[in-house]
Amino acid sequence: MQPILSLQGISYSYHNLKGETPALSDISFQVAHGEFLAIVGPSGCGKSTLLSIIAGLLTPESGSLSYRGKCLADCGTEDTVRIGYMLQRDHLFEWRTIYQNVTLGLELNHALTRENQDYVLKLLEDYDLYAFKDKKPSELSGGMRQRAALIRTMAIHPDLLLLDEPFSALDSQTRLNVSADIAQIIRNTNKTAVLITHDLSEAVTLADRVLVLSKRPASIKCEMPIQFSIDRRDPMAVRNTAEYQLYFNHLWEVLTNEQSVFQTA
Ligand code: ADP
Ligand code: MG
Repeated sequence: MQPILSLQGISYSYHNLKGETPALSDISFQVAHGEFLAIVGPSGCGKSTLLSIIAGLLTPESGSLSYRGKCLADCGTEDTVRIGYMLQRDHLFEWRTIYQNVTLGLELNHALTRENQDYVLKLLEDYDLYAFKDKKPSELSGGMRQRAALIRTMAIHPDLLLLDEPFSALDSQTRLNVSADIAQIIRNTNKTAVLITHDLSEAVTLADRVLVLSKRPASIKCEMPIQFSIDRRDPMAVRNTAEYQLYFNHLWEVLTNEQSVFQTA
């Protein structure tokens, strides 16, 4: 089947008065429909830059990017890939209620139809936020706010979810549960997701495949498919398996050793 996303030889540098900062170097990979891909790499290596390129917010210096086999410029309206982008901070507006926040994207796109409103109400129910729909963001916990941010992203029916360290602002206990919840929601709805994280445990626990990036300028050091013999719903149970330890140790080796034997690219 056609991959939903394909990157071929993508490179990118920032240019400013101080000179050039190379951020990405020759990045190539594909993402299959329904896949959950995690990308890990050291802080400042170019992860957010890569996601901005995938979202079409930055234009690559060289290389090509295609969605369902077509370059963005060649996509017709019928085969455009709808992208949902979720960031580290939830960016909820304090002067709007939770309902008004989660419908913001629809409102901006003039798509606040009865059908879409019903869909949002269902999402609020599914994510245990229905009772809070008329509250302001400050009345919610960090995990609830992050779920609200996910509903806002899901409300536009994205084909591809881009998640840029969406759990970083949460404390470690909340983070474990919220990230497992959100990954489960994404799997249940058969969405395709690219998750950026600097947390290797999170990547191994949640993803179907992990890409490890090198220091800046980022290149792909290693790619590893992840499979568990147990259900992934319980993040602590996953972390207690021998499989988890093996994956984690291999990837840790790659991440911390610039000359790793696991290097594949
Ligand atoms: P990460 O998300 O992995 O932490 P980023 O993609 O945000 O890394 O940034 C990669 C590198 O590019 C960093 O060294 C950062 O300082 C630099 N950078 C990011 N944005 C800009 C910009 N707008 N102008 C110049 N340099 C930038
Ligand atoms: Mg970043």
